[in-house]
Amino acid sequence: MAGRLRFDNRVVVITGAGSGLGKAYALEFAKRGAKVVVNDLGCSLSGEGSSHGPADSTVAEIKQTGGIAFPNYDSAEFGDKIIKAALDHFGRVDIIINNAGVLRDNSMVKITEKDWDTVQRFHLKTTFSVTKSAWNHMKNQRYGRIINTSSGAGLYGNFGQVNYSSAKMGIHGFTQSLAKEGEKHNIKINTIAPIGASRMTSSIFTKDILEMLSADKIVPLIICLAHENCSDNGALFETSGGWVTKLRWQRGKGTFFSKNFTAEDIEKHWVEINSFEHCDYPRNGNETFQKVLTLMEEANFPK
Ligand code: NAD
Repeated sequence: MAGRLRFDNRVVVITGAGSGLGKAYALEFAKRGAKVVVNDLGCSLSGEGSSHGPADSTVAEIKQTGGIAFPNYDSAEFGDKIIKAALDHFGRVDIIINNAGVLRDNSMVKITEKDWDTVQRFHLKTTFSVTKSAWNHMKNQRYGRIINTSSGAGLYGNFGQVNYSSAKMGIHGFTQSLAKEGEKHNIKINTIAPIGASRMTSSIFTKDILEMLSADKIVPLIICLAHENCSDNGALFETSGGWVTKLRWQRGKGTFFSKNFTAEDIEKHWVEINSFEHCDYPRNGNETFQKVLTLMEEANFPK
């Protein structure tokens, strides 16, 4: 029996759970008592074709060890079908791991509209569609845990990945906004940016490095964030090779121009505008707006 954080009577839907990171998550959830909906389209790394093989193999592995799982082969773009299957089969949905995804890397010179659209659909649309389809159910049961999957490429950018980076940064935008809607319904939504060994990374790293980055090392953070004990909401974590850490926004003190100002004034203060010496850590847009109001008030009515 693995671990104190249990998921008995909980139902988890994991997209792209037929291989890679998603498969590692599915096996661990099942060990910890969850009923698992193993969704996988069984497509190629670039999103072509389909096969029942990957989802079936994860389900078979779970069943072999006495776990409970059910396969679903729809593309996660069709979240309504996946959530309907989960509800028909297990009667509830408590946890969603939006994990499915593909790559169509190409520099700006070579990227096609199809490369762009496919990646947006397979990452951003799938995340929206599965979540939207379960939302009212989670709201009504006043419980939900949703984990969305971003990437360092989205957070920091990466050569040849404008499509993937946009989708992956978009996914964290989705998390941050939906977290504000979920708060009052006890639905917590967080994002992870993992690096782990899978077919997605097999051509990037050497065999030795891949061994150190095994998908198993991403699983513990997923388990923590998916558990009812998790109180984080709208947060972003990086995890890889045993390192787990949280990210947040940092903002410089900036420069406030109380009177009419020009591009030349900005240029004159460029060093100050770029400085993080007296920084803060903004959490929402309202705080930003309040800050601007305060600066304007102080300029108009100096103490
Ligand atoms: P993977 O290619 O090994 O597995 C992805 C699985 O998703 C495949 O089994 C595929 O059939 C399935 N899939 C793809 N599109 C689907 C769709 N529309 N509907 C249902 N299933 C679909 O990839 P992975 O490395 O395990 O990646 C999992 C997630 O983690 C992805 O979102 C990826 O972008 C993200 N990620 C991975 C890494 C990494 O280092 N592996 C790094 C950053 C982000």
